[in-house]
Amino acid sequence: MEYKNLEIWFITGAQLLYGGDAVIAVDAHSNEMVKGLNNSGNLPLKVVYKGTVNSSAEVAKTFADANNDERCAGVITWMHTFSPAKMWIHGLKDYKKPLLHLHTQYNEQIPWNEIDMDFMNLNQSAHGDREFGFITSRLRKPRKIVVGYWKDKSTQEKMAVWMRVCAAWADAQNMRIIRFGDNMNNVAVTDGDKVEAEIRLGYHVDNAPIATLVPYVEAVTEAEIDALIAEYEKLYDFAANCKKGAEKHQFVRDAAAQEIGLRRFLEDKGAKAFTTSFDELEGMKQLMGFASQRLMAEGYGFGAEGDWKTAALVRTMWIMGQGLPGGQSFLEDYTLNFNGANSSILQAHMLEINPEIAAKKPRIEVHFLGIGDARTCARLVFQAHPGEGIAATIVDMGNRFRMIVNQVDVIKPQPLPKLPVACALWKPQPNLEVGAGAWILAGGTHHSSFSYALTVEHIEDYAEIANIELLIIDNNTTIRSFKQDIRNNEMYYFLNKALS
Ligand code: MN
Repeated sequence: MEYKNLEIWFITGAQLLYGGDAVIAVDAHSNEMVKGLNNSGNLPLKVVYKGTVNSSAEVAKTFADANNDERCAGVITWMHTFSPAKMWIHGLKDYKKPLLHLHTQYNEQIPWNEIDMDFMNLNQSAHGDREFGFITSRLRKPRKIVVGYWKDKSTQEKMAVWMRVCAAWADAQNMRIIRFGDNMNNVAVTDGDKVEAEIRLGYHVDNAPIATLVPYVEAVTEAEIDALIAEYEKLYDFAANCKKGAEKHQFVRDAAAQEIGLRRFLEDKGAKAFTTSFDELEGMKQLMGFASQRLMAEGYGFGAEGDWKTAALVRTMWIMGQGLPGGQSFLEDYTLNFNGANSSILQAHMLEINPEIAAKKPRIEVHFLGIGDARTCARLVFQAHPGEGIAATIVDMGNRFRMIVNQVDVIKPQPLPKLPVACALWKPQPNLEVGAGAWILAGGTHHSSFSYALTVEHIEDYAEIANIELLIIDNNTTIRSFKQDIRNNEMYYFLNKALS
């Protein structure tokens, strides 16, 4: 698990106006709530109670500590009583990590017969959380607001989604992405401003000449390849001509050497994601497609043709989905299938799709690939299993990054006997006409990061933390309102930039 070194801090707002006894009660209740949250089994990260804050100095100190503590991936705030919000200004202004404002209450229901003024003064989240809400809004502070009783599963699940995104955000803040070769010549949508990406999204994009990877692949020993082939034999079927001793087996061994060399190279560089290019293969025996499939399944972000934005997003979404059922992958819109209400898009790539999304045991095949310098390549061939998922992408609009997410239904394709690549067939929600139309209006890429495990809420939380534009395409989308959203956003981000 990538979450084990991370925690979420819980801070309770209070004040000394009601006397020390009230603060002691607030503290005890907060302790009990944090214990309850941790014991619920519904939260992926440990919550650490950091006490009550009762003054501007205490707030500023706690948020500064949160900024500086590597383990802290985000802060949850809650106002048990009233907490005058001017005291939150300095702390919130300087706070740089994700924020969740929990609007809950220690006791669930009003004790109608017993309630008196003391009880009401102690249990006034309804009051205090509004005061806190004002100052976060006044400071234009991005945050997630979760409203609900803290013991309810639905409340905890919304917190859990945000925590997963906090972990992915923390991961991205020291993510290094290695590109073997530049973006594919002349391609616009996969390119963008790498400086702005590092400022806004945290990750760092580096270039590595393919010549620096070649020695890593050449240094792989025959014994290491033998061991990896044995692993492949356990996990995958082999096409007859790819089995040990058959004519094309050597291509599988070459791919195994690439996998080992590439993994070692990325470990040496401390990289969590990478991109490849079919035009940058000098010294390589084949395009590293099979190796990319394998490394994606281990959690490396991947983007083809130099697509570093998608590589970063694939890694980020893998972190978000840790431990959840359902895989995820880099995918590309390839071919349309017009078929009335079941119109769909065939998602595929030359080679590089994560075997985690396969419906059945993938099969190793070797075929000639005519594009660029790619040559004859091994690959895992399979079809993705049916199910609901999301496809997400980030594009650079010049003055801002725009995130687009589309809910999609993966359906079973017909057999594809002559198409020797992995693929998925999906219907974008609400249907092909509106889903694809909105995606194209938004300027969405042909590459996307797909996940069965995540929901639109994960992407919403990510866009909120990153403070970037988000366009959602789901069953509620209409082209007319989507167009207006885009126009409104143009104005919003123009003014936002001018005012910041
Ligand atoms: Mn592509």
